[in-house]
Formats: sequence, C-alpha cells, structure tokens
Amino acid sequence: MVQVKAIKAFSDNYIWCLTTEGNAKAWVVDPGQAEPVLAHLAAENLTLGGILITHHHYDHTDGVAQLVKDDPTIKVYGPKNSPFKGVTHPLVDSDSIDVLGINFKVLTTPGHTLDHICFVNDNMAFTGDTLFSGGCGRLFEGTSEQMWHSLNKLKTLPAGCKVFCTHEYTQANLTFAKAVEPRNPSLLAHSELVDELRKEDKISLPTTISQELKINPFMRSDIPTIIEEVPKEFISVTKNNEPWHNFAALRKFKDNF
Ligand SMILES: [Zn+2]
Repeated sequence: MVQVKAIKAFSDNYIWCLTTEGNAKAWVVDPGQAEPVLAHLAAENLTLGGILITHHHYDHTDGVAQLVKDDPTIKVYGPKNSPFKGVTHPLVDSDSIDVLGINFKVLTTPGHTLDHICFVNDNMAFTGDTLFSGGCGRLFEGTSEQMWHSLNKLKTLPAGCKVFCTHEYTQANLTFAKAVEPRNPSLLAHSELVDELRKEDKISLPTTISQELKINPFMRSDIPTIIEEVPKEFISVTKNNEPWHNFAALRKFKDNF
C-alpha cells in the first residue's frame, strides 16, 4: 500500500513523499528545497530512493543537488528536454517508470513550461504546476493551445484518480472559479470546505479528477457557457473558433484577476 505525505517547502509548495509499507526507501516529487526533505526522512527513519521532477523551475529542483550528493546512485527522473541538468533518467511521453514497485506513466504536458511532464497511473497523478485544484499553471513558456491539450490528457484519467499538485493555491483559485461560475453548486460547496480547512491551516490536497471536472473552470473550458462571466476584453475572436478558445479567455481573465 502506497502512502503519500506532503512535506511543506517555501511558503506554499508541497514536496510529495511516497513510501510503501515495510520499505525504508522514500521517493520525493519536485524537491525545491533539501532541508525539509532531509528533516522528514530523518524523522520517519527513511532513506531517499529516488526523485521525480516535473519541470525545471527552481522551486521544484533546487534541492536535488544536496539530496543526491552523498549517494550518486539515487535516480532522478525528469523531462528529457529540460533546462534542468540534474536529471539522471530523462523521460519522454508515454515512458513507464517503476517507483517502489508502482508503475507510473509519463505524460508530456507543456504549457506552464515547455519541459513539463506529469507522472500518472489510474490512482495517482503528480501534476506539478500543470493542474492545480481549481486552477492551472500560468503560461510562462507554452501557449493556450498546448495547455488545453495537456489538461485534456489529464481529463482522460479515471474519475477517482487522486491529483497531487505542487502548490497550496486552492483557495485563491476557487475565488477566481466563483467569479467564472457564481452559481455552480459543487464549486460553492467545495469552496466552503476549503475555507474551513485553510482556517485551521490544513492542506486542501490531494484533489481528484472528478472533483476538478466539477469545480475547475480550466478543466471545464469545453462548456460553451463557461465564458459568460468573462469580461469581453479577455475574449479573442478567432476566425477558426479553435477548441481552446474558451481556455485562452479564462487564462487571460485569471492573469488579470
Ligand atoms: Zn513552475
């Protein structure tokens, strides 16, 4: 049985730590800092087995060098086309990897960055800065078209698949989501729940694919009415009426929200 725990880093990052019963090895996802990981491993009597990297941003990678310095055999899985040079096992779309006996498939999900990948199976998805609860990553390097395709890949995961994203952005994302869909009952109910959790400094994650399909405007961008509340200046008129039209409008609205 796999266990996934959140290690807090920086102000709102989570470094996910995977373990299985009876195994003293742990794997971590996107260690932007080494210290909190080392403290967690020491407290739980674990040693590091490997590292998964979703993309090159410093708050996902800066801890890697220190974590592997005493044991260069530690595997660092990450995107092949990454500017981050600490990856020992470069991955491309549809690659399969084994983490503590659990199989994960690699999905390339460009948009937030061009090197972004997600690690997924039917039960778990580590989505980095691509899919957040209630939102999605900013487009630093990619286009709306790319991000729309990337989110569509995640939409095909099973409804009950748990989504582990890197940031505690849920509350702010839901404030925006409510501006887009002020009468979405699932969204309003979930927003209240998250407010309660955050009041007590509790984590709002993981989420699930089915939850995001109900509350996340970016995952719901194919619904024709989803841009009804989006101010006109953020809606571009495209002659081909591309399927990512609504996504692009929502992303512009959020960037200016
Ligand atoms: Zn990032």
